[in-house]
Amino acid sequence: MKYPYPIIGLEIHVELKTKSKMFCQCSADYFGKAPNSQVCPVCLGLPGALPVPNKTAVEWTIRIAQALGCTVPERSKFDRKHYFYPDLPKGYQISQYDEPIGINGRVAISDGIERKEFRIRRVHIEEDTGKLIHKGGETLIDFNRSSVPLVEIVTEADFHNSGDVKRFLEELQVIIRTLDVANADMEKGDMRLEPNISVLYLEKGQKWDGKTFPKYKVEVKNINSFRFAKMAIDYELERQTKLLENGETPVQETRGFNEKTNATVSQRTKEDAHDYRYFPEPDIPVMVFGKSYLERIRQSLPELPTPRAERLVAELGLRFQDAFLITRVKSTADLYEMLVAKMGKDKSQKIANHIVNRKVDVTAPVEEVVSAMEALFAEKNADPALLEKAVADVCAANGKVVTDYKNGKQQALMFLVGQVMRQMRGQADAADVTAALRKYLD
Ligand SMILES: [Zn+2]
Repeated sequence: MKYPYPIIGLEIHVELKTKSKMFCQCSADYFGKAPNSQVCPVCLGLPGALPVPNKTAVEWTIRIAQALGCTVPERSKFDRKHYFYPDLPKGYQISQYDEPIGINGRVAISDGIERKEFRIRRVHIEEDTGKLIHKGGETLIDFNRSSVPLVEIVTEADFHNSGDVKRFLEELQVIIRTLDVANADMEKGDMRLEPNISVLYLEKGQKWDGKTFPKYKVEVKNINSFRFAKMAIDYELERQTKLLENGETPVQETRGFNEKTNATVSQRTKEDAHDYRYFPEPDIPVMVFGKSYLERIRQSLPELPTPRAERLVAELGLRFQDAFLITRVKSTADLYEMLVAKMGKDKSQKIANHIVNRKVDVTAPVEEVVSAMEALFAEKNADPALLEKAVADVCAANGKVVTDYKNGKQQALMFLVGQVMRQMRGQADAADVTAALRKYLD
Protein backbone atom coordinates (compact mmCIF):
# COMPACT_ATOMS: atom_id res chain seq x y z
CA MET A 1 0.00 0.00 0.00
CA LYS A 2 2.86 2.36 -0.78
CA TYR A 3 3.27 4.83 -3.59
CA PRO A 4 6.43 6.28 -5.22
CA TYR A 5 7.12 9.96 -4.51
CA PRO A 6 9.70 11.71 -6.75
CA ILE A 7 12.14 14.07 -5.01
CA ILE A 8 14.00 16.43 -7.32
CA GLY A 9 16.45 19.24 -6.61
CA LEU A 10 18.14 21.34 -9.27
CA GLU A 11 21.59 22.73 -9.93
CA ILE A 12 21.61 25.28 -12.70
CA HIS A 13 24.68 26.88 -14.22
CA VAL A 14 24.36 30.17 -16.09
CA GLU A 15 27.25 31.71 -18.01
CA LEU A 16 27.35 35.49 -17.60
CA LYS A 17 27.76 37.67 -20.70
CA THR A 18 30.46 39.93 -19.25
CA LYS A 19 33.04 41.33 -21.70
CA SER A 20 35.99 39.68 -19.93
CA LYS A 21 36.55 36.43 -18.06
CA MET A 22 36.18 35.87 -14.30
CA PHE A 23 39.81 36.21 -13.21
CA CYS A 24 41.69 37.67 -16.20
CA GLN A 25 41.14 40.15 -19.02
CA CYS A 26 40.65 37.67 -21.87
CA SER A 27 37.39 38.08 -23.82
CA ALA A 28 34.58 35.95 -22.41
CA ASP A 29 32.85 35.83 -25.79
CA TYR A 30 34.29 32.52 -26.99
CA PHE A 31 31.40 31.28 -29.15
CA GLY A 32 32.67 30.30 -32.62
CA LYS A 33 36.22 31.60 -31.97
CA ALA A 34 39.36 29.72 -33.10
CA PRO A 35 40.38 27.23 -30.34
CA ASN A 36 42.80 28.59 -27.73
CA SER A 37 42.78 32.08 -29.27
CA GLN A 38 41.42 33.77 -26.09
CA VAL A 39 43.75 32.57 -23.38
CA CYS A 40 46.45 33.93 -21.07
CA PRO A 41 48.64 32.58 -18.24
CA VAL A 42 45.79 33.07 -15.71
CA CYS A 43 43.08 31.09 -17.51
CA LEU A 44 45.63 28.48 -18.63
CA GLY A 45 46.58 28.00 -14.97
CA LEU A 46 50.30 28.59 -15.55
CA PRO A 47 52.50 28.69 -12.41
CA GLY A 48 52.68 32.10 -10.74
CA ALA A 49 49.69 33.62 -12.51
CA LEU A 50 47.37 35.45 -10.11
CA PRO A 51 43.56 35.74 -10.42
CA VAL A 52 41.82 39.13 -10.07
CA PRO A 53 38.01 38.89 -9.68
CA ASN A 54 35.78 40.53 -12.29
CA LYS A 55 33.81 43.22 -10.43
CA THR A 56 30.93 43.22 -12.95
CA ALA A 57 30.55 39.43 -12.67
CA VAL A 58 30.33 39.68 -8.87
CA GLU A 59 27.77 42.51 -9.14
CA TRP A 60 25.66 40.59 -11.67
CA THR A 61 25.67 37.53 -9.40
CA ILE A 62 24.37 39.77 -6.60
CA ARG A 63 21.63 40.97 -8.98
CA ILE A 64 20.62 37.38 -9.78
CA ALA A 65 20.66 36.44 -6.08
CA GLN A 66 18.49 39.43 -5.14
CA ALA A 67 16.08 38.82 -8.01
CA LEU A 68 15.66 35.23 -6.78
CA GLY A 69 14.72 36.56 -3.35
CA CYS A 70 18.00 35.58 -1.69
CA THR A 71 19.67 37.21 1.28
CA VAL A 72 23.07 38.57 0.25
CA PRO A 73 25.38 38.46 3.28
CA GLU A 74 27.86 41.32 3.60
CA ARG A 75 30.74 38.82 3.49
CA SER A 76 31.55 36.33 0.76
CA LYS A 77 34.70 34.47 -0.28
CA PHE A 78 36.21 32.25 -2.96
CA ASP A 79 37.36 28.64 -2.39
CA ARG A 80 39.32 26.10 -4.37
CA LYS A 81 37.41 23.01 -5.46
CA HIS A 82 39.84 20.24 -6.43
CA TYR A 83 39.34 17.57 -9.01
CA PHE A 84 41.46 16.20 -11.78
CA TYR A 85 40.19 16.39 -15.30
CA PRO A 86 42.00 17.62 -18.42
CA ASP A 87 39.59 20.56 -18.94
CA LEU A 88 40.69 22.05 -15.60
CA PRO A 89 44.29 23.24 -16.03
CA LYS A 90 45.01 24.25 -12.41
CA GLY A 91 43.74 20.97 -10.94
CA TYR A 92 41.15 23.03 -9.07
CA GLN A 93 38.30 25.35 -9.93
CA ILE A 94 37.92 28.69 -8.17
CA SER A 95 34.38 28.48 -6.77
CA GLN A 96 32.57 29.34 -3.54
CA TYR A 97 31.93 26.83 -0.77
CA ASP A 98 30.59 27.95 2.61
CA GLU A 99 30.13 31.68 2.00
CA PRO A 100 28.23 32.02 -1.28
CA ILE A 101 26.94 35.33 -2.59
CA GLY A 102 23.24 34.53 -2.04
CA ILE A 103 21.32 32.22 0.32
CA ASN A 104 17.68 31.29 1.10
CA GLY A 105 15.71 32.64 -1.85
CA ARG A 106 12.44 31.69 -3.48
CA VAL A 107 10.91 31.86 -6.94
CA ALA A 108 7.19 31.72 -7.71
CA ILE A 109 5.59 30.40 -10.87
CA SER A 110 1.96 31.08 -11.71
CA ASP A 111 -0.55 30.19 -14.41
CA GLY A 112 -3.05 32.74 -13.16
CA ILE A 113 -4.94 30.14 -11.14
CA GLU A 114 -2.31 28.36 -9.09
CA ARG A 115 0.85 29.90 -7.64
CA LYS A 116 3.74 27.65 -6.63
CA GLU A 117 6.91 28.63 -4.80
CA PHE A 118 10.26 26.88 -4.96
CA ARG A 119 13.07 27.56 -2.50
CA ILE A 120 16.56 28.55 -3.65
CA ARG A 121 19.29 27.20 -1.36
CA ARG A 122 22.19 29.24 -2.70
CA VAL A 123 23.59 31.31 -5.57
CA HIS A 124 27.35 31.46 -6.09
CA ILE A 125 29.92 32.53 -8.67
CA GLU A 126 32.70 30.34 -10.08
CA GLU A 127 34.78 29.93 -13.22
CA ASP A 128 33.88 27.73 -16.17
CA THR A 129 36.23 24.99 -17.39
CA GLY A 130 37.81 24.42 -20.79
CA LYS A 131 36.13 22.23 -23.37
CA LEU A 132 37.15 18.77 -24.55
CA ILE A 133 36.70 18.01 -28.23
CA HIS A 134 36.73 14.37 -29.28
CA LYS A 135 37.87 14.08 -32.88
CA GLY A 136 39.06 11.09 -34.89
CA GLY A 137 40.05 9.03 -31.85
CA GLU A 138 41.90 11.97 -30.29
CA THR A 139 40.90 14.31 -27.49
CA LEU A 140 41.70 18.00 -27.98
CA ILE A 141 41.30 20.81 -25.47
CA ASP A 142 40.02 24.32 -26.12
CA PHE A 143 40.66 26.71 -23.23
CA ASN A 144 38.68 29.68 -24.64
CA ARG A 145 35.85 28.88 -22.18
CA SER A 146 38.27 28.40 -19.26
CA SER A 147 37.48 30.98 -16.54
CA VAL A 148 34.36 32.44 -18.16
CA PRO A 149 32.11 33.59 -15.25
CA LEU A 150 29.57 30.97 -14.27
CA VAL A 151 26.76 31.42 -11.76
CA GLU A 152 25.49 28.33 -9.98
CA ILE A 153 21.93 28.32 -8.64
CA VAL A 154 20.97 25.46 -6.31
CA THR A 155 17.36 24.80 -5.33
CA GLU A 156 15.97 22.81 -2.42
CA ALA A 157 14.43 19.43 -3.31
CA ASP A 158 11.06 21.12 -3.85
CA PHE A 159 10.16 19.51 -7.18
CA HIS A 160 8.03 16.38 -7.43
CA ASN A 161 7.32 16.17 -11.15
CA SER A 162 9.07 17.00 -14.42
CA GLY A 163 6.45 19.53 -15.54
CA ASP A 164 7.17 21.85 -12.62
CA VAL A 165 10.91 21.60 -13.34
CA LYS A 166 10.33 22.69 -16.93
CA ARG A 167 8.13 25.63 -15.92
CA PHE A 168 10.61 26.70 -13.24
CA LEU A 169 13.48 26.64 -15.78
CA GLU A 170 11.47 28.73 -18.22
CA GLU A 171 10.73 31.24 -15.44
CA LEU A 172 14.39 31.34 -14.40
CA GLN A 173 15.41 31.96 -18.00
CA VAL A 174 13.09 34.96 -18.41
CA ILE A 175 14.17 36.38 -15.03
CA ILE A 176 17.84 36.19 -16.02
CA ARG A 177 17.15 37.67 -19.45
CA THR A 178 15.13 40.49 -17.85
CA LEU A 179 18.16 41.24 -15.67
CA ASP A 180 20.19 41.42 -18.90
CA VAL A 181 23.17 39.53 -17.43
CA ALA A 182 23.20 36.35 -19.55
CA ASN A 183 21.74 34.88 -22.74
CA ALA A 184 20.62 31.80 -20.76
CA ASP A 185 20.29 29.74 -23.93
CA MET A 186 20.16 26.01 -23.09
CA GLU A 187 20.84 24.90 -26.67
CA LYS A 188 24.11 26.88 -26.70
CA GLY A 189 25.13 25.73 -23.24
CA ASP A 190 24.83 29.22 -21.67
CA MET A 191 22.36 27.65 -19.23
CA ARG A 192 22.91 24.07 -18.03
CA LEU A 193 20.71 21.96 -15.81
CA GLU A 194 21.79 19.14 -13.52
CA PRO A 195 18.83 17.69 -11.67
CA ASN A 196 19.28 15.41 -8.62
CA ILE A 197 16.62 12.75 -8.77
CA SER A 198 15.49 10.09 -6.30
CA VAL A 199 12.28 8.29 -5.39
CA LEU A 200 10.85 7.79 -1.92
CA TYR A 201 8.05 5.35 -1.03
CA LEU A 202 5.26 6.76 1.10
CA GLU A 203 2.31 5.01 2.74
CA LYS A 204 -1.01 5.62 1.04
CA GLY A 205 -2.53 8.82 2.41
CA GLN A 206 0.80 9.88 3.94
CA LYS A 207 2.29 13.28 2.98
CA TRP A 208 6.02 13.87 2.59
CA ASP A 209 7.52 15.49 5.73
CA GLY A 210 10.03 17.48 3.64
CA LYS A 211 13.07 16.07 5.45
CA THR A 212 13.15 12.33 4.82
CA PHE A 213 15.30 11.52 1.80
CA PRO A 214 16.13 8.25 0.02
CA LYS A 215 19.60 6.80 0.69
CA TYR A 216 20.79 7.62 -2.83
CA LYS A 217 20.43 10.26 -5.48
CA VAL A 218 21.21 10.35 -9.16
CA GLU A 219 22.53 13.43 -10.92
CA VAL A 220 21.85 13.83 -14.64
CA LYS A 221 24.08 15.87 -16.96
CA ASN A 222 24.17 16.83 -20.68
CA ILE A 223 20.64 18.22 -20.82
CA ASN A 224 20.47 21.00 -23.37
CA SER A 225 16.84 21.98 -23.80
CA PHE A 226 13.71 22.39 -21.68
CA ARG A 227 12.12 19.49 -23.52
CA PHE A 228 15.07 17.18 -22.84
CA ALA A 229 14.97 18.22 -19.17
CA LYS A 230 11.45 16.88 -18.90
CA MET A 231 12.27 13.70 -20.85
CA ALA A 232 15.44 12.98 -18.84
CA ILE A 233 13.60 13.34 -15.52
CA ASP A 234 10.67 11.19 -16.64
CA TYR A 235 13.06 8.49 -17.91
CA GLU A 236 15.06 8.53 -14.68
CA LEU A 237 11.94 8.35 -12.46
CA GLU A 238 10.68 5.36 -14.39
CA ARG A 239 14.07 3.60 -14.27
CA GLN A 240 14.46 4.12 -10.51
CA THR A 241 10.88 3.12 -9.73
CA LYS A 242 11.37 -0.17 -11.63
CA LEU A 243 14.57 -0.96 -9.66
CA LEU A 244 12.93 -0.09 -6.34
CA GLU A 245 9.91 -2.22 -7.13
CA ASN A 246 12.27 -5.16 -7.71
CA GLY A 247 13.73 -4.61 -4.25
CA GLU A 248 16.96 -2.99 -5.55
CA THR A 249 18.43 0.39 -4.58
CA PRO A 250 19.60 2.56 -7.50
CA VAL A 251 23.33 3.34 -7.47
CA GLN A 252 24.35 6.86 -6.35
CA GLU A 253 25.94 8.14 -9.53
CA THR A 254 26.13 10.74 -12.30
CA ARG A 255 24.33 9.80 -15.50
CA GLY A 256 24.33 11.50 -18.89
CA PHE A 257 21.27 12.08 -21.04
CA ASN A 258 21.49 10.72 -24.57
CA GLU A 259 19.22 12.77 -26.82
CA LYS A 260 19.18 10.13 -29.58
CA THR A 261 17.85 7.31 -27.36
CA ASN A 262 16.06 9.62 -24.86
CA ALA A 263 17.68 7.56 -22.12
CA THR A 264 20.18 8.27 -19.35
CA VAL A 265 23.42 6.27 -19.15
CA SER A 266 25.82 5.75 -16.26
CA GLN A 267 28.90 8.03 -16.37
CA ARG A 268 30.61 7.82 -12.99
CA THR A 269 29.89 7.46 -9.29
CA LYS A 270 29.09 10.77 -7.66
CA GLU A 271 31.65 12.64 -5.53
CA ASP A 272 30.84 13.83 -2.02
CA ALA A 273 31.84 17.36 -0.98
CA HIS A 274 34.82 16.08 1.03
CA ASP A 275 36.31 14.50 -2.10
CA TYR A 276 36.84 18.01 -3.48
CA ARG A 277 39.15 19.09 -0.60
CA TYR A 278 37.67 22.60 -0.51
CA PHE A 279 39.79 25.32 1.09
CA PRO A 280 39.77 29.14 0.95
CA GLU A 281 41.41 30.61 -2.16
CA PRO A 282 44.58 32.20 -0.74
CA ASP A 283 45.17 34.50 -3.73
CA ILE A 284 41.88 36.45 -3.44
CA PRO A 285 40.87 38.47 -0.36
CA VAL A 286 37.47 37.99 1.26
CA MET A 287 34.82 40.24 -0.33
CA VAL A 288 32.93 42.63 1.96
CA PHE A 289 29.87 44.38 0.52
CA GLY A 290 28.63 47.60 2.09
CA LYS A 291 24.93 47.91 2.98
CA SER A 292 24.51 50.92 0.66
CA TYR A 293 26.23 49.07 -2.20
CA LEU A 294 23.82 46.13 -1.87
CA GLU A 295 20.86 48.50 -1.55
CA ARG A 296 21.91 50.40 -4.68
CA ILE A 297 21.94 47.13 -6.67
CA ARG A 298 18.53 46.18 -5.27
CA GLN A 299 17.08 49.55 -6.30
CA SER A 300 18.34 49.04 -9.85
CA LEU A 301 16.52 45.70 -10.35
CA PRO A 302 13.85 45.81 -13.08
CA GLU A 303 10.31 44.65 -12.35
CA LEU A 304 10.35 40.86 -12.82
CA PRO A 305 8.14 39.10 -15.41
CA THR A 306 5.58 37.22 -13.29
CA PRO A 307 5.00 40.03 -10.74
CA ARG A 308 4.63 42.37 -13.72
CA ALA A 309 2.03 40.07 -15.33
CA GLU A 310 0.14 39.98 -12.04
CA ARG A 311 0.22 43.79 -11.84
CA LEU A 312 -1.11 44.15 -15.42
CA VAL A 313 -3.99 41.82 -14.55
CA ALA A 314 -4.77 43.83 -11.40
CA GLU A 315 -4.41 47.28 -12.98
CA LEU A 316 -5.87 46.73 -16.45
CA GLY A 317 -8.07 43.67 -16.02
CA LEU A 318 -6.02 41.90 -18.67
CA ARG A 319 -6.47 38.13 -19.17
CA PHE A 320 -3.61 36.41 -17.24
CA GLN A 321 -2.53 34.32 -20.24
CA ASP A 322 -2.01 37.48 -22.34
CA ALA A 323 -0.26 39.36 -19.52
CA PHE A 324 1.97 36.30 -19.04
CA LEU A 325 2.96 36.11 -22.72
CA ILE A 326 3.57 39.86 -23.01
CA THR A 327 5.83 39.98 -19.94
CA ARG A 328 8.11 37.12 -21.05
CA VAL A 329 10.32 39.60 -22.91
CA LYS A 330 11.06 42.88 -21.12
CA SER A 331 11.15 45.02 -24.29
CA THR A 332 7.71 43.69 -25.34
CA ALA A 333 6.27 44.44 -21.90
CA ASP A 334 7.78 47.95 -21.98
CA LEU A 335 6.33 48.51 -25.46
CA TYR A 336 2.92 47.24 -24.35
CA GLU A 337 2.75 49.63 -21.39
CA MET A 338 3.87 52.52 -23.59
CA LEU A 339 1.08 51.72 -26.11
CA VAL A 340 -1.55 51.55 -23.35
CA ALA A 341 -0.39 54.90 -22.00
CA LYS A 342 -0.63 56.40 -25.51
CA MET A 343 -3.87 54.84 -26.73
CA GLY A 344 -5.87 54.56 -23.54
CA LYS A 345 -6.55 51.98 -20.82
CA ASP A 346 -9.90 51.09 -22.42
CA LYS A 347 -7.95 49.55 -25.31
CA SER A 348 -5.55 47.57 -23.10
CA GLN A 349 -7.02 44.12 -23.86
CA LYS A 350 -7.27 44.82 -27.61
CA ILE A 351 -3.67 46.06 -27.73
CA ALA A 352 -2.68 42.88 -25.90
CA ASN A 353 -4.60 40.75 -28.43
CA HIS A 354 -2.80 42.38 -31.36
CA ILE A 355 0.59 41.77 -29.72
CA VAL A 356 -0.16 38.17 -28.71
CA ASN A 357 -1.62 37.37 -32.17
CA ARG A 358 1.45 38.96 -33.79
CA LYS A 359 -0.56 41.55 -35.70
CA VAL A 360 2.32 43.98 -35.16
CA ASP A 361 6.05 43.35 -35.26
CA VAL A 362 7.18 44.12 -31.71
CA THR A 363 10.83 44.17 -32.79
CA ALA A 364 10.26 47.06 -35.24
CA PRO A 365 11.24 50.64 -34.25
CA VAL A 366 8.79 52.09 -31.71
CA GLU A 367 7.27 54.72 -34.07
CA GLU A 368 6.52 51.98 -36.62
CA VAL A 369 4.78 49.83 -33.99
CA VAL A 370 2.70 52.79 -32.84
CA SER A 371 1.50 53.61 -36.36
CA ALA A 372 0.87 49.92 -37.17
CA MET A 373 -1.22 49.64 -34.01
CA GLU A 374 -3.12 52.85 -34.81
CA ALA A 375 -3.85 51.53 -38.31
CA LEU A 376 -5.21 48.29 -36.83
CA PHE A 377 -7.57 50.24 -34.59
CA ALA A 378 -8.62 52.59 -37.39
CA GLU A 379 -9.48 49.88 -39.89
CA LYS A 380 -11.43 47.91 -37.33
CA ASN A 381 -13.64 50.92 -36.64
CA ALA A 382 -15.86 50.07 -39.59
CA ASP A 383 -18.30 52.63 -40.98
CA PRO A 384 -21.53 51.85 -39.02
CA ALA A 385 -23.73 52.49 -42.09
CA LEU A 386 -21.69 50.01 -44.19
CA LEU A 387 -21.83 47.42 -41.42
CA GLU A 388 -25.60 47.81 -41.07
CA LYS A 389 -26.05 47.36 -44.81
CA ALA A 390 -23.84 44.26 -44.84
CA VAL A 391 -25.82 42.73 -41.97
CA ALA A 392 -29.13 43.37 -43.71
CA ASP A 393 -27.82 41.98 -47.05
CA VAL A 394 -26.44 38.80 -45.49
CA CYS A 395 -29.62 38.13 -43.49
CA ALA A 396 -31.79 38.68 -46.57
CA ALA A 397 -29.66 36.27 -48.62
CA ASN A 398 -29.60 33.55 -45.94
CA GLY A 399 -33.22 33.23 -44.85
CA LYS A 400 -32.92 29.58 -43.78
CA VAL A 401 -29.89 30.25 -41.57
CA VAL A 402 -31.70 33.19 -39.96
CA THR A 403 -34.65 30.87 -39.17
CA ASP A 404 -32.21 28.32 -37.67
CA TYR A 405 -30.81 31.04 -35.44
CA LYS A 406 -34.26 32.14 -34.36
CA ASN A 407 -35.00 28.49 -33.51
CA GLY A 408 -32.07 28.58 -31.08
CA LYS A 409 -29.24 27.19 -33.23
CA GLN A 410 -26.20 29.19 -32.02
CA GLN A 411 -23.82 27.92 -34.76
CA ALA A 412 -26.05 29.68 -37.28
CA LEU A 413 -24.91 33.01 -35.88
CA MET A 414 -21.24 32.04 -36.40
CA PHE A 415 -22.00 31.37 -40.07
CA LEU A 416 -23.66 34.78 -40.47
CA VAL A 417 -20.73 36.52 -38.71
CA GLY A 418 -18.38 34.89 -41.21
CA GLN A 419 -20.51 36.05 -44.16
CA VAL A 420 -20.67 39.65 -42.91
CA MET A 421 -16.90 39.69 -42.21
CA ARG A 422 -16.38 38.55 -45.79
CA GLN A 423 -18.59 41.24 -47.20
CA MET A 424 -16.74 43.81 -45.07
CA ARG A 425 -13.42 42.53 -46.50
CA GLY A 426 -11.76 42.33 -43.10
CA GLN A 427 -12.62 45.96 -42.33
CA ALA A 428 -14.74 45.00 -39.32
CA ASP A 429 -14.00 43.55 -35.91
CA ALA A 430 -15.62 40.14 -35.19
CA ALA A 431 -17.00 41.38 -31.88
CA ASP A 432 -18.61 44.44 -33.56
CA VAL A 433 -20.12 42.26 -36.30
CA THR A 434 -21.55 39.80 -33.77
CA ALA A 435 -23.09 42.66 -31.80
CA ALA A 436 -24.58 44.26 -34.95
CA LEU A 437 -26.06 40.92 -36.09
CA ARG A 438 -27.60 40.16 -32.69
CA LYS A 439 -29.11 43.63 -32.56
CA TYR A 440 -30.58 43.23 -36.08
CA LEU A 441 -31.91 39.69 -35.55
CA ASP A 442 -33.29 40.20 -32.06
ZN1 LIG B 1 42.88 34.70 -19.64
